[in-house]
Amino acid sequence: MKITSVRTVVCNAEMRNWVFVRIDTDQPGLYGWGECSLEWKTRSVAGCIEDFAPMLIGEDPTRIEFLYQKLYRQSFWRVGVIGMSAISGIEQGCHDILGKSLGVPVYRLLGGAVRDRVRMYTHLGGGDMRAVYESQMQADTKLFVDRALEVVARGYTAVKVLITPPTEPLNPIAGYKYAESVMEALRLAVGDSVDIMIDCHGRHSLGNAVEFCRILAPYRPYFIEEPVPPENVDVMVEVRKASPVPIATGERRVTRYEFRELIEKQACHVIQPDLCHCGGLLEAKKIAAMAEAYTMGVAPHNPLGPVANAAALHFDLSTPNFLIQEDMLTDVPWRWEVVRHSLRSENGYWLPTETPGLGIEIDEAAAAKHPFRQEVIHATTVRAPDGAILDW
Ligand SMILES: [Mg+2]
Repeated sequence: MKITSVRTVVCNAEMRNWVFVRIDTDQPGLYGWGECSLEWKTRSVAGCIEDFAPMLIGEDPTRIEFLYQKLYRQSFWRVGVIGMSAISGIEQGCHDILGKSLGVPVYRLLGGAVRDRVRMYTHLGGGDMRAVYESQMQADTKLFVDRALEVVARGYTAVKVLITPPTEPLNPIAGYKYAESVMEALRLAVGDSVDIMIDCHGRHSLGNAVEFCRILAPYRPYFIEEPVPPENVDVMVEVRKASPVPIATGERRVTRYEFRELIEKQACHVIQPDLCHCGGLLEAKKIAAMAEAYTMGVAPHNPLGPVANAAALHFDLSTPNFLIQEDMLTDVPWRWEVVRHSLRSENGYWLPTETPGLGIEIDEAAAAKHPFRQEVIHATTVRAPDGAILDW
């Protein structure tokens, strides 16, 4: 079997463009789909796939480790998140081809199922932070509570929220009170049977982050995510040591090499690789195995498109230290109209699929109704009261 073409299908889903990869083979009707969506770098990732294509044409798509090595090592320059996202999408597409060629779902190629179903949570977002600043940090708790109750009514037993405001190196007291008032309202609304995760988007300094962990601890968050920016692992270690709440991080790290430092220094309790960025399914399995040796859990990051959901399902089913899976609900109402799939969920859990491969196909005609558009992020920059740019 040989690869005959590698190309992307881009589909605009408002906040982000989904980048799907299609790999065709010389076997009639046998092709694979992967996803490498990367917010606000769509053209770079699609261009990287174009750059990689000549290295793949004529190769056997089932030699997945070999092809990963070829793309990673022959690049000479380490390819960063743009190149690793492209590799991830290609790697997923090769798994899809391999599963289809053997007539088995991908999770069976990853060691088989270690669980019967996959617990999900969904991200409730964070509201309009510019409005929060303009209203002097008066929390709209009803907004968060209404969103939480809506997804709990749909069967979810866990939610994530973005309630710590973007901060300067030290924070006015109003920012802490804002976060505490939202968390208190959420806990009161959903009770103790729903887990609440706090995403900080790497917004804080060490001092701010520890204070947010301390004041939110009485409401028992499941974990606090990315309390400080991802660049300096030693700072994350300090937060982890000082925090009374478990720490999760990793969505902005790629490859086993970048996760190695996080894991060896025990900078967190839960790692969050993104299967569309970290290097794909096998790379995520290797990262998870390193984390398992340090008793860390794995909660894959997944706010992207529907093919990313399918890839995550197969990883989660087959990974022993998997904890909980992010599921995207709120991007666009036509999300599931651009795919044909066999994915099913029930009471806040994804169920296994027995469809060969990843179990998902892009409907290219449906996707073409939503062509690439520049995202709105550039109009929503978060700025401090003095006009300085803050982490989003
Ligand atoms: Mg996050």
